[in-house]
Amino acid sequence: MDSLVRATLLVRRLARKGLGLLVTCALAAWVIAGGAAAPIGPLPVLAAVAWAIFLGKRLRAKLRLTGDAPFLLDFELGALLAVGLDAALLRFDGTLSGRFSPATYVLVALVASFGRPVAGLAVVGWVVILDALIRYKTLGEASLEALATQAGFATAFALLNLLLLRAEVARIRVTARARVERELERLREDARSYRLLGAGEAVSNSKSKKEDAEERLARSSVEEIHQSVHYALELLRRSLDLHTAVLLWRTDSGTHLRISELSTASDDIHDAPFSIGDGVCAAVIAKKEAVLLENLRPSYKVPYYAGPCPIRALAAIPVVEDGVVRGVLALDRVESKAFTPHEHDLAAQAARYCLRAIQNERVFVQLERAKVEQGKLYRAAQALGAALSERDVVEAGVRAAREIASFDLAAVTVWDEGTRMHEVCAATSNGGEIDDLVGQRFKHNTGLVSMVVTNRFPLPYKGEYDAAHQMVLTKRLSWPAVPSLLVLPLLHHNRVLGTLILGARRRHAFGDTVRPTLEVLASHLAVSLSNARMVHKLETMATTDGMTGLLNKRAMLDAAAQKVAAAHRFSRKLSVLVTDIDWFKKVNDTYGHDVGDLVIKGLGDILKRVKRTTDVVARFGGEEFVVLCEQTDEQGALLLGERIRDELSKTVFHSPNGPLSVTCSVGVATFPVAGEKWDELFKAADEALYASKRGGRDRVSIYTPSPTSAARVKSA
Ligand code: GH3
Ligand code: MG
Ligand code: MG
Repeated sequence: MDSLVRATLLVRRLARKGLGLLVTCALAAWVIAGGAAAPIGPLPVLAAVAWAIFLGKRLRAKLRLTGDAPFLLDFELGALLAVGLDAALLRFDGTLSGRFSPATYVLVALVASFGRPVAGLAVVGWVVILDALIRYKTLGEASLEALATQAGFATAFALLNLLLLRAEVARIRVTARARVERELERLREDARSYRLLGAGEAVSNSKSKKEDAEERLARSSVEEIHQSVHYALELLRRSLDLHTAVLLWRTDSGTHLRISELSTASDDIHDAPFSIGDGVCAAVIAKKEAVLLENLRPSYKVPYYAGPCPIRALAAIPVVEDGVVRGVLALDRVESKAFTPHEHDLAAQAARYCLRAIQNERVFVQLERAKVEQGKLYRAAQALGAALSERDVVEAGVRAAREIASFDLAAVTVWDEGTRMHEVCAATSNGGEIDDLVGQRFKHNTGLVSMVVTNRFPLPYKGEYDAAHQMVLTKRLSWPAVPSLLVLPLLHHNRVLGTLILGARRRHAFGDTVRPTLEVLASHLAVSLSNARMVHKLETMATTDGMTGLLNKRAMLDAAAQKVAAAHRFSRKLSVLVTDIDWFKKVNDTYGHDVGDLVIKGLGDILKRVKRTTDVVARFGGEEFVVLCEQTDEQGALLLGERIRDELSKTVFHSPNGPLSVTCSVGVATFPVAGEKWDELFKAADEALYASKRGGRDRVSIYTPSPTSAARVKSA
């Protein structure tokens, strides 16, 4: 049923898609059959109406689309137009070689211009075939000459149009892109010269989201500065009757001046950077004082005019910031009317106003940046706080770093002060170059990671990496030669826990704007790492026995509950072994408690050695241990018990009072025979253990229930 519905839907979809093409073919067949020249009647009218409806539909669909139309749509449009044109030519001219026949070329050119290239060529094919059929069938023309001419021209028109139009579109695109890039570059230069952006920032072509936001912020600030400055200059020009009021600003490198903003009546402005040593500006910058000139001659060179000097009076006022001339405010007049002290004062105030506009924006950008950075750090702190394991913390840290800076490689190393070894505990890279470093350990050396751990300071300087002279981890563990690198110490309470290493394939990835934030993130990461270690330690303490490193009774009971439940669910065997050292009180009494402890640890080591990965071993208390063996029957458990007993009896412990050996007794109980609940199972194993004790010790006994439900114990 389902497939029937699906098949019906498919047929409907195909019919809807192919209907236009079908109607076009039907109309073409009708025209070829001579329908276009037939006397007016219901059929021609019907054909004309069908043609108009389908053409209208396709046109509407085409006009609604913004991008490239599907091939079928372009082809149907072209084919319908061709059929309509041929029908019109046949009706009104009676031939395809009449006065209006070149209209075919217009049609082909149109389709080639507005459709996809493949659709354009398909329409040319359609036009040629349709023409051939009409000439041969409808008009009875046998000569191929007219058809060949028609086909040749139609193809040439289509191809020419296609090539010329596409080339023109590409040219316009390239010019527009270059213009936008030029404007953006100018904006970045402005932003850097106003100290809104650090050197080298936001200049990469492959911009990240962060750089986009940074650039948007800088752009709005530059626009704000230009508006404020333009307002001041306009006011000055109008009130002091000036020809030009211009603020010239030093470029980022400081070697040139360029027009920052101007208000002028001139159309001869030279808008290109000029050296700070040029003309009147050199004097203003050198003396840090205003220069007022009058009676200027046309031969005098004013750097911001392209042609001869159009002005007679000029006032150039320095814009001084922190004792450095950052720009020059130039005011000039066409009349030789000297600037009065009052006017000079006004200009000096305007210069200070322009500087303040720039400084305000600088503060605004810094505040805005701080707000954004704080938001990121807040989110990072939250994510780090939520991570409890060391791995989760490292992952959250690297994710948070990605929000702050864009990088291609990231790794985290941990430092073990006891062994003086580093270990790479996480490494990720876009290309997978460093992923296999995880788990690698290396000695403290002269590499950047070791130096950062020793000095507790981020390296390398300015985040620039020189692979030829610097080593990141060790010589053995190579690090990709990327130009940007930052190794940050993970510092907590003045203790270095390890390092966070970030690398980027582009230059200046870790500039002044991101480094401080990354340093704060690294300290958050260190705190969380330390907490995660503490949590892990507490968990370990809560579940393991301090003396043997095996599980303690509590953890054992948790594991036992799970294993018994699994044994129930999957009807699996489950054996419990309880061991107890024989005459242990005597060991303590004869050799002392310390030697007693040594013996307990020794048995713990034997149990760790002989157990399978799925077995659970715990120190249950004193010198008693419990082993839980999944999918193990009595015989399997008996073999294991024998092995434990054998290994212990063969072990010689050394004490100040001479060597000693001990034996142990073991009791075995198996699910479900000995009991279906943990308590029953354990009690049965305990009974078997005491049977071993009663039987003379140094033996393994299996619990088997007797018909009277009293324990019947088999000793090995
Ligand atoms: P049996 O063969 O019947 O087991 O004789 P036993 O002397 O071993 O008797 P039992 O198992 O009851 O003795 C347990 C002794 O183990 C009691 C206690 O002094 C000692 N013991 C318990 N915990 C520790 C420990 O952590 N270290 C040391 N050295 N001795 C312990
Ligand atoms: Mg005991
Ligand atoms: Mg004992």
